[in-house]
Amino acid sequence: MDIALNDDQKNFRALAREFLDKEVIPHRAEWDRAESVDVGIVPKLGEIGFFGLTIPEEYGGLGGDYITYCIGMEELGRADSSVRGIVSVSMGLVGKVILSHGTEEQKQWWLPGIATGEILACFGLTEPDTGSDAGNLATRAVRDGGDYVLNGQKIFITNGTWADLCLVFARTGGPGPKGVSAFLVPTGTPGFERREIKGKLGLRGQATAEIFLTDVRVPESARLGAEGEGFKIAMHSLDKGRVSVGAGCVGIIQGCLEAVVQYSQQRRQFGRPLASFQLIQDMIADISVEADAARMLVWRAADLIERGEPFGVAASKAKYYASEAAVRAANAAIQAFGGYGYVDEYPVQKYMRDARVMTLYEGTSQIQKLLIGRAETGISAFI
Ligand code: FAD
Repeated sequence: MDIALNDDQKNFRALAREFLDKEVIPHRAEWDRAESVDVGIVPKLGEIGFFGLTIPEEYGGLGGDYITYCIGMEELGRADSSVRGIVSVSMGLVGKVILSHGTEEQKQWWLPGIATGEILACFGLTEPDTGSDAGNLATRAVRDGGDYVLNGQKIFITNGTWADLCLVFARTGGPGPKGVSAFLVPTGTPGFERREIKGKLGLRGQATAEIFLTDVRVPESARLGAEGEGFKIAMHSLDKGRVSVGAGCVGIIQGCLEAVVQYSQQRRQFGRPLASFQLIQDMIADISVEADAARMLVWRAADLIERGEPFGVAASKAKYYASEAAVRAANAAIQAFGGYGYVDEYPVQKYMRDARVMTLYEGTSQIQKLLIGRAETGISAFI
């Protein structure tokens, strides 16, 4: 793997950082307290190109490579993970899966809007009774003439109350993963209702929703892929999503590093800057090493995607390591800030609260370990 960044990648990082330093970082504490980012940020993110990073130019995107995408997600994670989630779910989870599994008509219809942020998408897999065991989901899609009628409930759906489009996974066949299909459901369809979930520990600026589907009727042309292919599509999408979450976590670790270095150089105790104490440098060294290690794992998975090689296990390793390292880094950062780390005048407590969910969603750390363990041993511990 060539880890030297080319000029396009470096330029995109500089552009992204300049934009986020100006448009997101000054507002993130206020959005966190208000439990909502200002949605006016969405078209601005679209103008910079965040939503179109890896969508080909023919569908209105920038046609960038996967490392550039990871750089974008890292910079968004450093700035505000709530904003990162808006982009990575809409474009990374849903847009990319339409690109890989959609018909030409579906691509032409949805992708140009997703690539600019004019259309926001959400990913409806998790249900109240099935999280890690998503292959046993209960939402049903029943054929009725040329249509499908969907009934069921989804929970914890990122972008849920803002989205124009929901990728809904529903059962069209018998029990288990092989009975699941995927549907592109416009959220304005009669019977599609949503309710925002408030009071989250982190990602407070992000709209996370419960979704209720009551006799939601969609034409057969809304099905993504063949009947019974839905679970495979969901897992393919989540494999790529895990690289994106990993990249966002690298941004959190990097943000913690920069915050601690800056603060410890200014803050003085015992007549010296905190940065001069060996125990503070010990924390800084750990955060710095974990930032590099997590970034390398993320870039390795991204490089495999670029080469068209299997990347699922590399994605699990990247997501598992980067998310756990982000929690460690944010925890250490709070310690280095002392009492000031505990209040929202400084960003480290927000990094901690946002990092905590990264070990849970898109497959918990335990699920990532089971995937890695299955690859190493050839034995599935799921069944
Ligand atoms: P459970 O599956 O009930 O797990 C509970 C505990 O049991 C965990 O520690 C888990 O690791 C452990 N466990 C489960 N099975 C095993 C096993 N076989 N072996 C060992 N341990 C096991 N979902 C979506 O579909 N779309 C979204 O956009 C989305 N966004 C989210 C945003 C937020 C803020 C949150 C909190 C969640 C989001 N989710 C989303 C849901 C998320 O993916 C699930 O919460 C996650 O998959 C875990 O499922 P669960 O919460 O039902 O936990």
